[in-house]
Amino acid sequence: MSQTYTGGCHCGRVRFRVTADLAKVAECNCSICTKKGFLHLIVARQQFELLSGDGELLCYRFNTGTAKHLFCKNCGIHAFYVPRSDPDKIDVNVRCLDNVDVAALEPQPFDGRNWEEAMAGPVPWR
Ligand SMILES: [Zn+2]
Repeated sequence: MSQTYTGGCHCGRVRFRVTADLAKVAECNCSICTKKGFLHLIVARQQFELLSGDGELLCYRFNTGTAKHLFCKNCGIHAFYVPRSDPDKIDVNVRCLDNVDVAALEPQPFDGRNWEEAMAGPVPWR
């Protein structure tokens, strides 16, 4: 069931509001998601609203350059980004939502290390 959440980076400069279903949370084993501990929640752009911090965001890109790994230039936290799988959508880091018990979630695994094969199979957020 979709609910509306607020969230943001650590220092509080980047804040957003998102409407999403936490049953669709995914955990990816690729090189960057593993290191970040990113918990994915991919939503349509109209379900996401950046409330503040547009000017605080920096972007890191690698490999195909499709994904825009945005992070707060002040605190370094990656609260959301533009994912390679769905560049027309927003991927929110569930760990950055306010008042969400992350331990109670059951993230679906996504084999991002084998990206092409994983995208050809059932994708947890679709
Ligand atoms: Zn910050």
